[in-house]
Amino acid sequence: MRITDLKCAVIGDNPVVRIVTDEGISGYGQIEQYKPYMKWHVLHLKDALIGQDPTNVERVMLRIRQRGGYKPWGSAVSAIEMALWDVAGKAAGLPVYKLLGGKVRDRVRVYNGAVRFPMNGYTPEDYAENMAKMKASPEGFTIIKQGIGFHSPMRTEVPNFFYGEVEAAPYHGALVRGLLTEQGLKHVIACVEAMKDVLGDEVGLALDCGPGWTVPDAIRLAKALEPLNIMWLEDLITGDYTPYVHADVYREVTASTSTPIHTGEQIYLRHNFKDLIERHAVNIIGPDPCDIGGIAELKWVAEYADLHGILIAPHGTGNGLLGLAALVQVCATLPANFIAFEYPVGKPEWWYDIVEGLPNPIVKDGFIEVWDRPGMGVDLIPEKASAYLKEEDKDFFD
Ligand SMILES: [Mg+2]
Repeated sequence: MRITDLKCAVIGDNPVVRIVTDEGISGYGQIEQYKPYMKWHVLHLKDALIGQDPTNVERVMLRIRQRGGYKPWGSAVSAIEMALWDVAGKAAGLPVYKLLGGKVRDRVRVYNGAVRFPMNGYTPEDYAENMAKMKASPEGFTIIKQGIGFHSPMRTEVPNFFYGEVEAAPYHGALVRGLLTEQGLKHVIACVEAMKDVLGDEVGLALDCGPGWTVPDAIRLAKALEPLNIMWLEDLITGDYTPYVHADVYREVTASTSTPIHTGEQIYLRHNFKDLIERHAVNIIGPDPCDIGGIAELKWVAEYADLHGILIAPHGTGNGLLGLAALVQVCATLPANFIAFEYPVGKPEWWYDIVEGLPNPIVKDGFIEVWDRPGMGVDLIPEKASAYLKEEDKDFFD
């Protein structure tokens, strides 16, 4: 089998990759919905793929892997990797999890991710009210994550929050940092306590916190929250779109507290997880298959983390329905250090009309049943998806 074409269309907000082969099989991969500008990056890799056998996934990846980087620049390579696995699975007549070594669980746990409700404000009462809605959502999540601190508008909405500069950030994940005021720190802690009052000990609470915290504040927060048994504190120091890690700084925080510390969603390739894992700099890593370099890359990092006593809770909130399929396939194969992955939804809503293969409902009691269709198991329906193609992408299914 040979690759005859590589296409990319922005469907809704998500760039979608299609690998076309000479045997009539197509493979699909998806990029986060926040990255329509990645289309050019995908297409510039086309020449490296034409004529290659897509079922030799690693051999093809060796040709393009150096063309990725930290988020967002790993997403083109990652989506192509997923599309290659989709082709390989369809060609073999097997779900992708079989090609990765087989599933070790029949259902995978997810946390709320893209299931969110608008905040009315950023007081403890607002957080409690919002948490009650998430707890009541029909998916029955057993873990819920909420944004606080620098991963929320607190720096502009809470008076006297921190000592740094409050400037309008042009991009999500801008490098806003600074020491919190005593009032700011107490406000964050009060909001977390209010959320825990709603959840009790039935549902785990994870907190996306930064990036942007200083080491003393990160340690103060983590220690103050120790009695609350928080699932994890995410991206305190670096994260989101930070193009580096600072494993040594994370280590200082992690070693100071029993509250689990988590990071890794922006990191590209196993090599950039090496310091974090080998130095035990965090307790939990959170790579995103759509940014790390693909699902096989994520599996390798998960196995290596497990050897070091480190857990994994993969990121995925913007990955769309094809990204959801990739997460299900790879998370079914991860070792017991797997906690849950971040659940993405289809946006706009019509995305649910243009794919086939999803169960209904998708999430039951906080879990997704692993499906058995060949490839990723969730496929675009060309007849239906064509209606949503932009003018410049009209030949996407040709
Ligand atoms: Mg995050």
